[in-house]
Amino acid sequence: MPRYESRVARIDSDITTFRLLSRMSWIATKLYNTALWGAKETWDYTGKIPSGFDLQKVVLASHFHSFVPAHTYQHCAHQVGNAFKSWFKLRKTDRTARPPGFRNKEELSSFMVDAFKIIDTNTILLTPTSELKQEISYPYKKLSLRLHWNTAFPENGRIKQIEIVPKKGYFELHAKILLLEPEWKQDGQVMAIDLGMRNPIVSMDEYGNVDIYKGGKILSNLRYWNKEKARVQSEVMGRTKGKKKSSKALRKMSKHGSQQIKHSIHSMTNKVVELCVQRNVREVVVGDLTGIKKNKDGTGKNWNKKSNQNWQQFPIQQVVAQLDYKLARHSILLKKQDERGTSKGRCSQCGCTDRSKLHRAHRGMFLCLNCNTIRNADVNGVGNQLVRYLRLDGLPFISSSGCLAQPSVYRWDGHLWKGVHEE
Ligand SMILES: [Zn+2]
Repeated sequence: MPRYESRVARIDSDITTFRLLSRMSWIATKLYNTALWGAKETWDYTGKIPSGFDLQKVVLASHFHSFVPAHTYQHCAHQVGNAFKSWFKLRKTDRTARPPGFRNKEELSSFMVDAFKIIDTNTILLTPTSELKQEISYPYKKLSLRLHWNTAFPENGRIKQIEIVPKKGYFELHAKILLLEPEWKQDGQVMAIDLGMRNPIVSMDEYGNVDIYKGGKILSNLRYWNKEKARVQSEVMGRTKGKKKSSKALRKMSKHGSQQIKHSIHSMTNKVVELCVQRNVREVVVGDLTGIKKNKDGTGKNWNKKSNQNWQQFPIQQVVAQLDYKLARHSILLKKQDERGTSKGRCSQCGCTDRSKLHRAHRGMFLCLNCNTIRNADVNGVGNQLVRYLRLDGLPFISSSGCLAQPSVYRWDGHLWKGVHEE
């Protein structure tokens, strides 16, 4: 699987560059509206949703399309196609959902470019169309963009896709960067990771180090923001007699909320990677989550309904994606493994699968009467992951007393994941 990272750069622009980019993004708005107009017409006459490809034809009929590269106008058409598709889906459940609206005609839109050449990490050449160059009497063949990246550009990365995004008084370049396959580490140990509800991450390595990341604070934050959102939303709905669902304050609030969560998740995955490097981990194995969403009723793991609700808000795929690219920076490979049967039906210590001997005790503890082991259920789960990956019958590093080494517990304090020993 190819790995990508994204980066944002501020474009250093003189008057001419600024004019050229402004014109292109103004045309992007124009083409977006043209496609939207076409889509509305199709919908009104046929009751069908046009595809992005249908809309490409509409855009092609506009004389503005020749002012931007092919990829740019195609993308405008597909943007509208996708917006209509999601509206169509939404209105099946919400009859009041409104179809996508026109953009203000003076508004500048962001646009994609695929005709570009990379000179070095900080310089990209665009090829404006001859129509555009003629229009504003641009004398050169190419337009050179000087870039200031917000965060360091990945060493082994190649820019694959760029989007020019208008800001107040300047432009940004958003890049999708393909990371070249690193030389994966050959020596070292394996760490298994379990992604759970109460504990977003529980990890165990071959030496028996166990780390538990407690999610309580993040989850209560999530709940708080969701509640606040619902409160403000109903307030807005009441004030506008149900006409409006969203408001500026609401958008600002949910942005603030999601930023907090994002921050905590980034620090969590950073912490995991830091420990992997310290402990000479070569490979990390994580439960494959594709099975979780398979059941339509939302069941799938041993979570109750309430936790499932929270779970949907918790961006688990994001956690996996972050681990994947951050580990790759250190040549550590992330592998996915089917996690069926690794959670509660098996004792990771002795491999016992006899249900009459396995019990879930209080507060998420797992008890095996076969080997007399009691431990955190998530730790048992991750133990099973590790055992399965290493093709063992049971955990190899346990002392005769049947106790694991004391797990390290990390809690989010709003800024950092702080380690505390307990349990
Ligand atoms: Zn056992």
